[in-house]
Amino acid sequence: MPVNKEAYQQIITEFSEKKVTLVAVSKTKPLSDILELYNLGHRDFGENYVQEMVSKAEQLPKDIRWHFIGHLQTNKVKLIASFVQLIHGVDSLKLLKEINKQGEKFGRVINCLLQVYIAQEETKFGLNEEELNELIVESREVSLQNVRVCGLMGMASFTDDIKKVREEFSYLKRLFDKQALLPAPNFQLQTLSMGMSSDYRIAVEEGSNMVRIGSLLFGERNKE
Ligand SMILES: *Cc1c(COP(=O)(O)O)cnc(C)c1O
Repeated sequence: MPVNKEAYQQIITEFSEKKVTLVAVSKTKPLSDILELYNLGHRDFGENYVQEMVSKAEQLPKDIRWHFIGHLQTNKVKLIASFVQLIHGVDSLKLLKEINKQGEKFGRVINCLLQVYIAQEETKFGLNEEELNELIVESREVSLQNVRVCGLMGMASFTDDIKKVREEFSYLKRLFDKQALLPAPNFQLQTLSMGMSSDYRIAVEEGSNMVRIGSLLFGERNKE
């Protein structure tokens, strides 16, 4: 399936008035697909497997901004620490500390988003409100010089119930606004990453400023 350039242009046009960043989610898709959007000027791409992202980054132009959107295991941080633009799914202090350690090793400050659990489905990933508050307090206490927590990320329920999806996004926006009022060194909430192919418009209406879109641009994936 070819890259859907019409959808791409349409999304870019939709967002041109708003300050919304499009992360093109290229997981499982070939290098040639990424290059097609790259040649249209796109630079932000998202991947959710470490090995796949590393391999693609090695083979593609160096000015691509790679977003890691999957669940990151602590022992794999070192593989992406030298080049990753933004890690979207941080959900523990342990992981944040490891990212800090690797950031120090590579002499850079690594941008992170804390993943908040907003959907009704059971999942192992993401923080609830209480855990989010705890992690924020803890991460302020230990001084992490080589990470910058710059926002929150969340995924709404997989459902046709638009009202529910909207409520979940609006809930995350409220959490974001609360935390954004309490800036600290290395802790400045600016980015709210929410919205995918099926729900990005609702997400943007509810205050998202970063959407992660895969299948709408690259077609359905065969495997996850
Ligand atoms: C795969 C994925 C996306 C993109 O999903 P689409 O429905 O294909 O747009 C967005 N966010 C995360 C975390 C993903 O894993």
